[in-house]
Amino acid sequence: MNVPLVLPQFLDRAVSLYGEKEAVYCDERVFTYDELNGRVNQLSHGLRNLGIAKGDRVAYLAPNTAEMLEGFYGVFQLGAVMVPLNTRLTPDDYVFILNHSESRVLFVDQNLYHLIQPVKEQLKTVEHIIVHYKEPDVNETGYNEWLASYSSERFSRAELHEDDVCSLLYTSGTTGNPKGVMLTHRNNYLHALSTMHHLRVSDRDVYLHVLPMFHVNGWGSPFYYTANGATHICLKKATPQAIFQAMKDHKVSVLHMAPTVLNSLLQYNEEHAPALDQEVRVVIAGSAPPPAFVTRVEKELGWEFIQVYGMTESTPLSLISTIRPQLANLPLKEQYRIKAKAGYSMIGSDVRVINDNGEEVAHDGKEIGEVVTRSHGVMKGYWKNEEATMEAIRNGWLHTGDMGTVDEYGHIDIVDRKKDIIISGGENISSIEVEGVLYEHPGILEAAVIAVPHEKWGETPHAYVVLRENQNISEQDIIAFSREKLAHFKAVTGVTFVGELPKTASGKIQKVHLRNEYWESFGKSGRFV
Ligand code: ATP
Ligand code: MG
Repeated sequence: MNVPLVLPQFLDRAVSLYGEKEAVYCDERVFTYDELNGRVNQLSHGLRNLGIAKGDRVAYLAPNTAEMLEGFYGVFQLGAVMVPLNTRLTPDDYVFILNHSESRVLFVDQNLYHLIQPVKEQLKTVEHIIVHYKEPDVNETGYNEWLASYSSERFSRAELHEDDVCSLLYTSGTTGNPKGVMLTHRNNYLHALSTMHHLRVSDRDVYLHVLPMFHVNGWGSPFYYTANGATHICLKKATPQAIFQAMKDHKVSVLHMAPTVLNSLLQYNEEHAPALDQEVRVVIAGSAPPPAFVTRVEKELGWEFIQVYGMTESTPLSLISTIRPQLANLPLKEQYRIKAKAGYSMIGSDVRVINDNGEEVAHDGKEIGEVVTRSHGVMKGYWKNEEATMEAIRNGWLHTGDMGTVDEYGHIDIVDRKKDIIISGGENISSIEVEGVLYEHPGILEAAVIAVPHEKWGETPHAYVVLRENQNISEQDIIAFSREKLAHFKAVTGVTFVGELPKTASGKIQKVHLRNEYWESFGKSGRFV
């Protein structure tokens, strides 16, 4: 009989092969895999005692901690569903998600408790709130004492099936209201197998959690690094200084992060030149950075750069940008250009780019179509939203809402989100391409390009720019720079200088806010509602 593909197997494997090895460093504490497993069992016993059973939702509002890591496995043993919450939402968002998911228990970190306390009365289904690192004056159950009252002996697991939903993950809300994505054990299990293969994860790896575990960008790392007996390093605050320090202290070998964070590391490295006596082998980033950026990461930091593409709805990873051996003889510049593309389908994923007639676009790097994918990772559906599910998954294909091209080597380039493409005089302009050029300007730290209204062309690209310190650059300088590097119709026609850009918890720039603000200032209700 087939072994069901369920996630607790990953921890079992680590315990049986690497029981005495360090599983996780968090603050001043370190737990071996045996110890972690003991805590996971205590947690499962505790949850069962609270009446949590198969299918119930258990929510977590916590940064990257050992408690969060053990939370996944403690919840899974019961067949319950993990609902990880983004730590940068508002109290009202938590009311929405906790009520929408009908979560029965909420684990919350002391430092985030103030986000829950004022709205406690509005939580309709939460029966228990348990606080990690509780301060004495907080009137809730403290995690440590609660956990300590349960046995670390083996927990008799619920019967788990691979099609059972094990996590309910809310999308980033980059473009609108977050949606609850139901992922099964099988989704997560096969996604983890594919990812560990592509990232060459091994028991020698030391993984630094920079991306939040609660978010799909950092998603899966508790599974594929654990399955291989690698060591997890938790950082509560991922400042560049803390990241470089942790790399040194723990001999970190692999990191995943948003390009915006990677950018801040390049900047920090330039300013402080931290002694790079680190052993990082690879850094993995989502989103499309320009080739010049990829080159800088590899040359200045000495890390192999891998770009990945995915979305919550596909567990997430679908494309990866590593260079195939056949292409390794290409000139370096060409290799960087290819690496700057999202890449080719990962094992178990079939990603294609199709035109309006549903046919695949030409492999010429020019024809733009919608990115669709069919894979083991495609979600079971949106929680309590059949209509949106049917809209997203058609004939077994997940329609991503992203637009792309395919080059002669079969590499897919993500051109833009459908909603972010700027349509100027009938031409499609990729906001990502324009941003890529702006990032080449030595005085620009961050840039986001949006469509703004234009009398003649309908729309035109407008940049929001954060300058590096002590830069004296004018709007005209930036316009001239973009005209020099881009076809004129793609060049920005205006610039707004800002101190910072609105971002999601994982560091994605929320262009929807910029767009709304700009279009409203124009007396229009916004380009896309
Ligand atoms: P929401 O769906 O709530 O608006 P979101 O789409 O940002 O939020 P996620 O599922 O976290 O939520 O992000 C997936 C999206 O991120 C993709 O659809 C794509 O637009 C973008 N993305 C991910 N990887 C890349 C990449 N390598 N290059 C370009 N864009 C990427
Ligand atoms: Mg999305």
